[in-house]
Amino acid sequence: MDAAGADYIHIDVMDGHFVPNLTIGPGVIAALRGETDKPFDVHLMIAPVDPFIGDFVEAGADIITVHPEAGPHLHRTLQSIRALGKKAGVALNPGTPTAVIENLIDDLDLILVMSVNPGFGGQVFISSQLQKIEQLRRMIDASGRQIDLEVDGGVDASTAPKVIAAGADVLVAGTATFKGGPDHYAENISVLRSGEG
Ligand code: ZN
Repeated sequence: MDAAGADYIHIDVMDGHFVPNLTIGPGVIAALRGETDKPFDVHLMIAPVDPFIGDFVEAGADIITVHPEAGPHLHRTLQSIRALGKKAGVALNPGTPTAVIENLIDDLDLILVMSVNPGFGGQVFISSQLQKIEQLRRMIDASGRQIDLEVDGGVDASTAPKVIAAGADVLVAGTATFKGGPDHYAENISVLRSGEG
């Protein structure tokens, strides 16, 4: 994926409690760290999240994204990520409104729109989230700050043009990038990047 042209390596961390699936922890991320210089975009779907921030920073995360529901004080969580010198992101589930971050826009480096319910790969894109992407694009532009607007879930050749048109500038794709095996990674990425299904 590095050689194929990915900008970030997005890593989904799931705890079998906050979301109904179990994936990997800091140990595996640390083991991967030596394989690429690309930024590790670590998406934490774990609760509680606060006690583990330091472990993921130590493992090599460059961006740490948390869900507002994963801790009692979102602002404090974001501050603790930035205090460790890393970029801080917030992930919004399909049912989580943009209002949650309206007053925290100055404390964010990335906003992640979940276009499926978190937990599994290979799910179908939820179209109602396009409106949320548009809302967030306006919010980010009004802030004048450099904030990534990232979309995660069901992104493929047919949905990528829609999320790009809505204002997203970072696309997360697993199923669509790994499709066809290593010989196809570069082509799969360039199709998503061009926004031309
Ligand atoms: Zn993710």
